[in-house]
Amino acid sequence: MASLFASNTPPALDPATDRRIGVLLPLPLAGAYDYLVPDGIEVALGDFVEVPLGSRSVLGVVWGDAKDDVARAKLKQIEAKIEMAPLPEISRRFIDWVANYCLSAPGAVLKMAMSVGDAFKPERSIKAYAIGDPASGQVTASRQRVLDALGEVPSMQPGELARTAGVTPSVLSRMAELGQLRVVAQPLAKPFGRPDPDLPGPQLSPAQRAAADELIQAHAGVTLLDGVTGSGKTEVYFEAIAACLKRGKQALILLPEIALTTQWLERFTERFGAPPGQWHSELTGLERRLTWRAVLRGDAKVVVGARSALFLPYRDLGLIIVDEEHEQAFKQEDGVVYQARDMAVVRGHLAQIPVILASATPSLETMHNVETGRYRFLHLPDRHGPAQLPEVRLVDLRREPPPRQSWLSPPLREAIRATLERREQALLFLNRRGYAPLTLCRACGHRLQCPNCSAWLVEHRYLGRLQCHHCGFESPPPMKCPACSAEGSMAACGPGVERVAEEAAALFPEASRLILTSDTASGPTKTAELLRMIAQREVDLVIGTQIIAKGHHFPNLTLVGVVDADLGLSGGDLRAAERTFQLLHQVAGRAGRADLAGLVLIQTYDPSRPVMQALKAGDRDRFYALEAEERRAAGMPPFGRLAAVILSGGDPEEVDRFGTHLARTAPHQDGIQVLGPAPAPLALLRGRHRRRFLLKTRRDVAPQTVLRRWLSGIKTRRDLMLEIDIDPYSFM
Ligand code: ADP
Ligand code: ZN
Repeated sequence: MASLFASNTPPALDPATDRRIGVLLPLPLAGAYDYLVPDGIEVALGDFVEVPLGSRSVLGVVWGDAKDDVARAKLKQIEAKIEMAPLPEISRRFIDWVANYCLSAPGAVLKMAMSVGDAFKPERSIKAYAIGDPASGQVTASRQRVLDALGEVPSMQPGELARTAGVTPSVLSRMAELGQLRVVAQPLAKPFGRPDPDLPGPQLSPAQRAAADELIQAHAGVTLLDGVTGSGKTEVYFEAIAACLKRGKQALILLPEIALTTQWLERFTERFGAPPGQWHSELTGLERRLTWRAVLRGDAKVVVGARSALFLPYRDLGLIIVDEEHEQAFKQEDGVVYQARDMAVVRGHLAQIPVILASATPSLETMHNVETGRYRFLHLPDRHGPAQLPEVRLVDLRREPPPRQSWLSPPLREAIRATLERREQALLFLNRRGYAPLTLCRACGHRLQCPNCSAWLVEHRYLGRLQCHHCGFESPPPMKCPACSAEGSMAACGPGVERVAEEAAALFPEASRLILTSDTASGPTKTAELLRMIAQREVDLVIGTQIIAKGHHFPNLTLVGVVDADLGLSGGDLRAAERTFQLLHQVAGRAGRADLAGLVLIQTYDPSRPVMQALKAGDRDRFYALEAEERRAAGMPPFGRLAAVILSGGDPEEVDRFGTHLARTAPHQDGIQVLGPAPAPLALLRGRHRRRFLLKTRRDVAPQTVLRRWLSGIKTRRDLMLEIDIDPYSFM
């Protein structure tokens, strides 16, 4: 493999007077490549052009002056310029900035900005079928269903028609050949509308009004909108969106998990009379193309999306909102490794526009930026209307343990019973999918492990499978122990949500139950359906993972039981306590949202821990202050900076040799500390052996500079890989 970083080849200037230009391709290459501009083509910075690369044609963007580092004979010509608005200057600066900060190839970042297949395919209409002459062929039962499906509407797109009629696409194409169906052109329906900022919003409370008035001013810079769940943060930032629309600019809202946004979309549509554009992985190719182009043209006024929406080519972005800004889902862990919240702040800064970060439990980083005056601060102190914050109690599992082989303590059982008796809903929260996190042999102690990863196999009893949650490996549960061959000796160890649901079923057989995890809530439609069932009280007991924690309104839910509050605290993650606080606080916020009082029971083996005490007392700020003190003392973020370097390869000895070599060349200087190489907690992942370095620097030392110097001469061989993670959030 080549060097990770571009080397500075001396320019080999050519005397010819050709016009040359640098074109960046959406590929993980070192930088822009030089191309010749043929006569008859005029290009400007940002123009989309088609250029040859090897034997292919690739779409690229005119990025800058030529580097003149290639002999003329080797240069190729631009093939065509795409007639389309150019990639805006801010987008280009942003891409360069992100690449530079994350130490990734600019082309890899550009790829995120162009992540749409056939971006420029002209399309005015879409193929659909209408009824032709049914008598021109035999009318079988399935063909009749097709004709029936078309009885109600003038035409339907092929996929939709096949689904409605329950036939395969080949039935349709055969009917079209025979003339029983006609191919017609359906006009394209835009996947978004034109939100109307003049529609009235709700009557805001004085505190909400004050916050909204501040945001409407639209000062450039970052504002933290801090308020408990249900305090009306969404209503308040809707006012900022309305103001942005009135100024004729585009607004972007980043949400951590797009699968959970159905309620958000409904609220937005109700407030503004039309749905926003959406950007996430579940869009169809057509929706992506239409949305992408509409963003570039400036027609899509509001976009809501997952982190990748940040890289869309906004023509005139006027506002960015990052909702639930503390969520780790904003960190992208593969490909270009970046933190979308932080990059949103950068994007806002480049464009000199406002950025709003909203959360009930802001990240420590953001709080620090408020305290040091870098971010503005707006606070909504109370829940809207009569809703009160729930009472939180700790259950000390050492004093009141659950019976053997069960996980619900006597106080929690009693609280569930009382809740069900009042015909209210209860939620049991455990952030662990499946039935049991570990299966072991009672005879010899053997533990079932993934063959590709250093991780236990998780039993999923409903599926009848053992699964690795890291690589997707699956196997049926073994009938006998693979180590000692004892029959029927394999036993589940520890609880997952399925097992807690089993216990709840035994205790409360008459209560209806629903398990909500990423396994049962597969995709936005399914998720929305399950959430609706809960909201409309079609189930009594919900057992769920963190998927349940995020901003939903369940008016009948009055009890939340946290089955294992200590779960996230083990391991060496510097944000473990902070994250536990955020997650459990958010889960607790599901209880008692309407006029019913809520109760939260938190089961823990160590109630004296500051995080548990803070949850109990609802004293966020004191807990944050303690956490911040610890981080300051340790020089950890936000008081110092971190970067991780992860080596991996198929051969553990080779990875170790490479690690030793890197360690020898590691920088030593004031304000810099290099820890490692150490085996990663996931020392084996997808068959690759992994070692980690952690670079820790003082706040005034940029880890990028240190890494560039350290790693610029390093070449990786064979299948060795070196990944860099600036501001790491995962230490696995
Ligand atoms: P947050 O985003 O802080 O969790 P929301 O904006 O979702 O809070 O508000 C919580 C609930 O209260 C929502 O159902 C919202 O519509 C309602 N709500 C908040 N403020 C008002 C208001 N001023 N008038 C009417 N309903 C409101
Ligand atoms: Zn695995």
